[in-house]
Amino acid sequence: MARETILVVEDEEDIRELLRYNLEKEGYRVLGAATGEEALQLVRDRLPDLLVLDLMLPGLDGLEVCRRIRGKEDTRGLPILMLTAKGEEADIVAGLELGADDYLTKPFSPRVLLARLRAVLRRRRLQIPPETESVKTGELVVHPGRHEVLLHGQPLALTATEFRLLHLLVRKPGWVFTRARLCVRFTGAIIR
Ligand code: CA
Repeated sequence: MARETILVVEDEEDIRELLRYNLEKEGYRVLGAATGEEALQLVRDRLPDLLVLDLMLPGLDGLEVCRRIRGKEDTRGLPILMLTAKGEEADIVAGLELGADDYLTKPFSPRVLLARLRAVLRRRRLQIPPETESVKTGELVVHPGRHEVLLHGQPLALTATEFRLLHLLVRKPGWVFTRARLCVRFTGAIIR
């Protein structure tokens, strides 16, 4: 299974590096951001699988980052685990209402954080509806459930990677995907 990418958004370097160390030890790929702006940029460019998001950030704060991620169609479902300081109950409520999946108050134990993070990822995996609806564009029909592609009613022979690429592209007509973005999306698949 491809390693999941976790984006850690935290302006305090010590905490960010502590999280990086613990997550990498568990086999996750880790990206770090010290500001909300940097976090949004990485979410766009690298499509992480989960965000660990500190609420108290300079500039754009965590709540605003959460709001912007939830407000965009292609990042709406991104799992978010919030980090808050003690005594920020109002922020916890606001964050959960904005769609954060869970929260931890600082100081936290890395083991508890890992357990919460795994639980969030597990819940999200169960919620993702299977993309089984067929997509039609012009004379091309892609049936993800059957792993079948028809062009003018005739089946095409595609490899699994070609199929996934085509399925992604027909669902996003007009969109431009960079090679890097596709590679991140299909970690493990070699795209030439
Ligand atoms: Ca902070």
